[in-house]
Amino acid sequence: MYERIVIAGGGQAAVQAVDTLRRRGFAGALTLVGDEPWPPYQRPPLSKKYLAGSLERERLLIRPAAFFAEHAVTTHFGRRVTEIARRERRVRLDDGLVLPYDALLLATGSRPRQLLAPGRELGGVHYLRTLVDADRIRAECAAGGRLVIIGGGYIGLEVAATARERGMEVTVLEMAPRVMSRVTSPEVSAFYEAEHARHGVRIRCNETLRALQGDARTGRVRAVLTESGGEYPADLVIAGVGVAPADELARAAALECENGVVTDAYCRTADEAIYAAGDCASHLSRQYGRHLRLESVDNAFEQGTTVALNLLGGETVHDKVPWFWSDQFDLKLIIIGLSSGYDTAVLRGSPATRSFSVCYLRGGELVALDSINTPKDQMAARKLIPVHARPNLDRLADPAVALRDSV
Ligand SMILES: Cc1cc2nc3c(=O)[nH]c(=O)nc-3n(C[C@H](O)[C@H](O)[C@H](O)COP(=O)(O)OP(=O)(O)OC[C@H]3O[C@@H](n4cnc5c(N)ncnc54)[C@H](O)[C@@H]3O)c2cc1C
Repeated sequence: MYERIVIAGGGQAAVQAVDTLRRRGFAGALTLVGDEPWPPYQRPPLSKKYLAGSLERERLLIRPAAFFAEHAVTTHFGRRVTEIARRERRVRLDDGLVLPYDALLLATGSRPRQLLAPGRELGGVHYLRTLVDADRIRAECAAGGRLVIIGGGYIGLEVAATARERGMEVTVLEMAPRVMSRVTSPEVSAFYEAEHARHGVRIRCNETLRALQGDARTGRVRAVLTESGGEYPADLVIAGVGVAPADELARAAALECENGVVTDAYCRTADEAIYAAGDCASHLSRQYGRHLRLESVDNAFEQGTTVALNLLGGETVHDKVPWFWSDQFDLKLIIIGLSSGYDTAVLRGSPATRSFSVCYLRGGELVALDSINTPKDQMAARKLIPVHARPNLDRLADPAVALRDSV
């Protein structure tokens, strides 16, 4: 049994591990080091309600600030772990403090990929990951202002919807032929492109960033230039071009990293005293038979829980079917499972009603479902996908038949 557990990183996975450890009776020393200056908070509202100005800052906290003292957790907020000494089992912080551990959890999350184009350092060019980023963007969102978003993934589109509702002129530039191409099918992409157009968001696909043009007087961005010769005037630019795992600590400590900190099915690295969870972890999924690095609250929550159970002496495998959500305008997209490699897509309902699902099958087995405002379908999919259900295609395509009755 471990006496001293240290957690590097203060986000969703870290809080979940702390919470589970204490709820399950861990009585040893528990230390949390997070490099942001406040207690862990939820990131999803940063592109949604918080950016819209309709959610108070305090409501972002995953647990009230007092939670950590009440649960005897020593916190170092605003401090970075800079080094892991594996042989001695201790970490060093950026203020020189050395913390010994019996077990270490890496829950360091991920960071936005940076633009490489000329002009990237201009004023008015932002990324969105942290509360500080969201506050900066919020302060520069002004009705009538021109916002250009680079990247038509979840975050880019959520910001587009929010900024449009705040009265900005919004253009989204996406280098792929369609939006959200990494996570969903052409049918769902087309639906979202039409919805954004209906709300007045201009989406331009097949547009690759060439440069950001500045105003020499103010030092701020004034236009976005694309490879095709396009020029998009901008008062504000937000880049949402993906994230990279924050795995530099693990790399420096010679732990295997391959698109994140490599772990086994128990969320443990090759060093038996070090675990990894959340956005930073590349986890061996038995369900999918390969390593996966996922970026979602659900994944951070479940892996944080698994690590805690294993630190308490369990042998828990993290093997849940993942799910994701995205809110854009009044549409709730919930994706259950991973659709990559599907051979058949079945539409349930009609996009014209703004409430429909797309079911993805591989070799006759339901592997994923995209639910757009269809709560019953997504609830049923959560049960059917883990048991490798093989639905009847005609019944599946008939929205009058409950999804759970399609098998
Ligand atoms: C704008 C936005 C919207 C999102 N919307 C959704 C959504 O709708 N649905 C969804 O499922 N997911 C969403 N996500 C993704 C989700 O927030 C992440 O998957 C989740 O936060 C991952 O949790 P984590 O604990 O792994 O990492 P994080 O939440 O990133 O926390 C890691 C923390 O560790 C800190 N850290 C890093 N290195 C060190 C170090 N060396 N020492 C100390 N601290 C360190 C980081 O600064 C950070 O504070 C969104 C993310 C963003 C940015």
